[in-house]
Amino acid sequence: MPTYGTLFIVATPIGNLSDISARALTTLRQVDLIAAEDTRHTKRLLQQAGIQRPLIALHEHNERQRAQSLIERLHHGTDIALVSDAGTPLISDPGFPLVRACHTAAIPVVPIPGPSALIAALSVSGLPTDAFYFAGFPPHKKSARRTWLEQLRQQTATLILYESNHRVHDTLSDMQAVFGADRRAMCARELTKTFETLLHGTLHDIQSQLGVQPKGEIVLVVAGTTADPATDELEHYLDILLAELPRKQAITLTAKLLKLPKNQVYQQALSRNAF
Ligand code: SAM
Repeated sequence: MPTYGTLFIVATPIGNLSDISARALTTLRQVDLIAAEDTRHTKRLLQQAGIQRPLIALHEHNERQRAQSLIERLHHGTDIALVSDAGTPLISDPGFPLVRACHTAAIPVVPIPGPSALIAALSVSGLPTDAFYFAGFPPHKKSARRTWLEQLRQQTATLILYESNHRVHDTLSDMQAVFGADRRAMCARELTKTFETLLHGTLHDIQSQLGVQPKGEIVLVVAGTTADPATDELEHYLDILLAELPRKQAITLTAKLLKLPKNQVYQQALSRNAF
């Protein structure tokens, strides 16, 4: 029976270098090869820790073909550590094809857990942590982002999103339009770094507090819906139609579209002070 190498999935800091674990350092010191998203970036981390190991690049543009050559080396007994630029590999970062291929080839994959921005943000958000849904990065284009958010509107678990500082205002505006401006949320900026900032409040509050051109890396944590889906849908139609049409017409049209008694729609409109 041949002895295969092991693939170690090693989490690295998301800002503060002291967050690297003792086990991560031991693993990086002991492996034969380190596969890194950006070798220059990882070289700096290794230099800080006084570690010198061979590095190979594994990023989103080469990971499929690179996975095959790494599998061959693992087959020959090479131990490999996979790291990304920050946090846990595979979490909005490269590595999935390689881990998949290891499972297919019966090569052991071992996690060396540590920082991840999504868990760090959730843990301080003050929003429910018993169930959460990590959605990754929203699409860049407005129409695709709106559709994507629509699909998350009925999610009752706490939502976690990654977003770039350039697009965060657009995403916050779209979230207000789709989820309602009063949804509770938290914005975590520059976690573990010097200018770490946590903004709590409604989506509207957060957007007002964020500043025109926020800098740095951002995680958005948003409360799941608490309304029952039917009421939520009714609210959503009323939001749109009351803004565009006279009250009576908006109510009649909402009732028709949702096949609801007109009186029920009327009562709902009444409860949100539409009169
Ligand atoms: N693998 C990483 C992890 O485990 O968190 C995430 C990598 S993803 C390419 C990068 C995104 O993570 C950033 O755009 C930002 O949304 C989030 N992020 C990473 N570091 C962060 C930090 N220090 N503060 C806030 N968000 C961060």
